[in-house]
Amino acid sequence: MKINTTGSCHCGAVQFRVQGEVMVNGLCHCANCTRSKGASPVHLIALRGEESVEVTQGKEQLHTRVIKRFHLVNCKRCHGPVMQFQEGMGFRAVFPVLLDLSRGEPGSDHGADRIPDELRPAVHLNYENRLFDWDDHLPKFKVFPPDDPLESDGSRIES
Ligand SMILES: [Zn+2]
Ligand SMILES: [Zn+2]
Repeated sequence: MKINTTGSCHCGAVQFRVQGEVMVNGLCHCANCTRSKGASPVHLIALRGEESVEVTQGKEQLHTRVIKRFHLVNCKRCHGPVMQFQEGMGFRAVFPVLLDLSRGEPGSDHGADRIPDELRPAVHLNYENRLFDWDDHLPKFKVFPPDDPLESDGSRIES
């Protein structure tokens, strides 16, 4: 499926447009996601193409921390996340909680309303790193699904 929407960091200084084909929509248990956000798992949507996320306002506020080849892009003002990606892998990952998907007031303290059904997470990613087991019916991949660009083996962990 495709999405075409806008989003912003926590303080709103960084605004961006998200447009493109969803490669994976899941709950990520990897250490980069969870330790950088202080939450586990992290709901992310990876979109095909480096151009799938375009920062439309606040480029000067962007700060990128690179861990090996993994880029964590944050806002300097609020220190909140904007997006993340792995160098050369041709995708951009965004966080649905930051997207303007809701019918709520933009910038309201109540944050996003509910995630629309079609954008609910479909899988668990990097489930081998989970802090505890999740008792739901979503497929749980040791790393990524088999058709991902990171060429993991696609194996699943049953729970
Ligand atoms: Zn910000
Ligand atoms: Zn992750």
